Amino acid sequence: MNCELCGKVMDRYHEVIIDGVKMRVCQDCAKYGKEVTKKPAAVQREPIPQNTVQRNNFIHVPPPPPRRKTPGTVEDTDEPIIDFGHMIKKRREEMGLSQEQLANKLQEKKNLIAKIEREEIKPDKHTARKIEKLMGVRILEKIQ
Ligand SMILES: [Zn+2]
Repeated sequence: MNCELCGKVMDRYHEVIIDGVKMRVCQDCAKYGKEVTKKPAAVQREPIPQNTVQRNNFIHVPPPPPRRKTPGTVEDTDEPIIDFGHMIKKRREEMGLSQEQLANKLQEKKNLIAKIEREEIKPDKHTARKIEKLMGVRILEKIQ
């Protein structure tokens, strides 16, 4: 485009007010008027800075931590917490018994005791009664 004052071809123009008229003039003529825009405006559109376009596309959002899934322990629900496993484990340790020793006394498998203590399974009533009798705990009401 050309300077509106001197007609010179220009890459960038200055927007100035000369005698109350806004004009697009070249660098040389800009001094004759009062500049409207402080920086010389490019005739062509300036490229949009890249970081404003794709700034948010590569932000890594870490996945939420995996939910602890332990069957029998109830989290984030309205169900009451069943704690027969903890009770049995605590009582067994008070008695100084290993899971294996307790299993032998109950004539059950060690694996079963471990699962009961982790509350992965509920002992059946027969087993629960044996545990109650041997250990002096009350668990029947907790497993029903
Ligand atoms: Zn000019």
